Amino acid sequence: MGSLGEEGAVMPVKWVVGNWKMHGRLQDNAVLLAALATGAGRECGGAEARVRMAVCVPFPYLAQAQALLAGSCVAWGAQDVSAQAQGAYTGEVAAAMVAEFGAAFAIVGHSERRAYHAESDAVVAQKTLRALESGLTPIVCVGETASQRAAGQTEAVVGAQLRAVLDALTDEQAARLIVAYEPVWAIGTGNSASAEQAQQVHAFLRATLRGKAGALVAVPLLYGGSVNAANAAELFAAADIDGGLVGGASLKVADFLAICAAAHA
Ligand code: PEP
Repeated sequence: MGSLGEEGAVMPVKWVVGNWKMHGRLQDNAVLLAALATGAGRECGGAEARVRMAVCVPFPYLAQAQALLAGSCVAWGAQDVSAQAQGAYTGEVAAAMVAEFGAAFAIVGHSERRAYHAESDAVVAQKTLRALESGLTPIVCVGETASQRAAGQTEAVVGAQLRAVLDALTDEQAARLIVAYEPVWAIGTGNSASAEQAQQVHAFLRATLRGKAGALVAVPLLYGGSVNAANAAELFAAADIDGGLVGGASLKVADFLAICAAAHA
């Protein structure tokens, strides 16, 4: 995926997606979203846009994100969707409901959902399907724990997580995914994977995607886990890192825009 640069050369597109997690209040969000909408123009505006920006907000703030980001180059999305399409599932939010608010994305399979809500690979695959059926781009998260990495199981773990989703999809559906590699030990710890560590896993994920269908080499692969303004440029320079899924730093407009600027570099 790319866009035409000044010399007519195809420039790679980078993605920077914020994951607000369970943070925000209407008043604070208004300030943050307005500053993002204004500040983002420098990073992702224009037909030759090289940076795609989005924020995944808590469900109750989708309408606010829609109101304040519409017309800007920042897209918005949710952090989860139900594995069901609709029905008697109290407390669940259907992908179709998220789509009604103009959302473009839904994170699925975040490690916090897998850990605190016992989401299995099968459930993550169902959520991915529901998102696709509603026209959302699923951002499918995979990642190993520290002990799995120490045991040399990283590729086995992320490979199984990704294949569980791919096996539930047609090649055409799989081509509409974004995949985020988020090592659990790097999330919210300030201890990012090094660019080398992340690149190694991304190359494996790329090969896994290619193994399903050649066209899937174009599926964007985001790295997530303590991405910040200081480490973003090095991470994003790696061959198979197409951008970042950003948690904590997405709540601070200057940090998030600095990460977007690093993606533009
Ligand atoms: C996340 O939870 O998706 C994440 C990447 O968090 P952080 O950037 O805070 O590590």
